[in-house]
Amino acid sequence: MLTSDSVKIADSAFSLCQRCVLDTTVRDIRFDEAGVCQYCRIHDALEKEFPLNEAGQRKFNDLIDDIKRRGKNEDYDIIVGISGGRDSTFALYTAVKLGLRPLAVHFDNGWNSETAVTNIKKATDKLKVDLHTFVIDWEEFKDLQISFLKASVSDAEIPTDVGIHGLLQKVAAQENIKYVVFAHSFRTEGVAPLGWTYMDGCYINSVHKRFGTKPLKNFPNLTLKDFFYYQLIKRIKVLSLLVYIPYDQKEVERVLQSELGWTYYGGHHHESYYTHFFQSYYLPKKFNIDKRKIEYSALIRSGQMTRDEALKEINGEPYPYDQDLVRYTLSKLGLTEEEFENILRSPNKTFHDYPTYYPLIKLLKGPATLACRLGFIPKHLYLKFLG
Ligand SMILES: [Zn+2]
Repeated sequence: MLTSDSVKIADSAFSLCQRCVLDTTVRDIRFDEAGVCQYCRIHDALEKEFPLNEAGQRKFNDLIDDIKRRGKNEDYDIIVGISGGRDSTFALYTAVKLGLRPLAVHFDNGWNSETAVTNIKKATDKLKVDLHTFVIDWEEFKDLQISFLKASVSDAEIPTDVGIHGLLQKVAAQENIKYVVFAHSFRTEGVAPLGWTYMDGCYINSVHKRFGTKPLKNFPNLTLKDFFYYQLIKRIKVLSLLVYIPYDQKEVERVLQSELGWTYYGGHHHESYYTHFFQSYYLPKKFNIDKRKIEYSALIRSGQMTRDEALKEINGEPYPYDQDLVRYTLSKLGLTEEEFENILRSPNKTFHDYPTYYPLIKLLKGPATLACRLGFIPKHLYLKFLG
């Protein structure tokens, strides 16, 4: 229990961005002289790079023309990863409306909710898009997920994120598709702070090597070697499709519901049972991380939510979780309550405690700047790692 002195210390050390709702629970947060955090500055840089005006529209039209030109002798122009969630479904919908011919790819990691499965089926059927589903080897993936829980890091959901990106690049290379869609909008989703989420293929391997019990054979990892092969040899680019168009969260949900029969699943990325468990229970309980702050901050910056509304929600109720979901997750992972308690109690670590590419990425700032300019690295990731 905190003494009155320690409360005072904790209070005096706590700072909140003057513009969004990110605060010093974000380990790497920095504030400028106006008390505004670097993630707000990243938002402004992205807004400047992808303005929703005539110049931005021209740039977008040129890009779409290039995608159609590069794909004209192939069956598909682009790959869109689909989870059944709002952003990926809207990306697929937008691609079709733009006259592109997407191949939808789904990474089935064993944690799909029924809503996710139905949403994917309805969207691909109604939009008449081919769907490629990759089902991960469950025992292997479970071993990787448990390894990341044992590593005691807040990045423990990255096996899914890295697996999705690795899979999309792999299928793009096989099918000779030159663009992979990144269904991320900084205007609604924000940029996950580096101190909360870091990911790379080396990190996957190093944590798994330390805590895993079986070899990774089926998992589509994305190592630096893979990255160079896909970008330099196969010339696959990333398209951050949603940053070029107005993205009003409520309006997008309305369109998806009325045109595709899409169903909302109750929270950011809750289309996956594991993500729901991870964000609502594991991160708040072990790391004092409330990921709603990222989404609400993005909505504040893009004028879709007021700061007062966001603060009221965050300070009012802790991230709601469901005890049945916690039991289901532990049982599916084969962890006893005691084993999980040990994970919760073990000292928190960060990605700096394990081998990653991060030191190398810092050294390669020049080439990374060029790769970003040429469209091989999404701008928001470049700014997050090197901005
Ligand atoms: Zn901020």
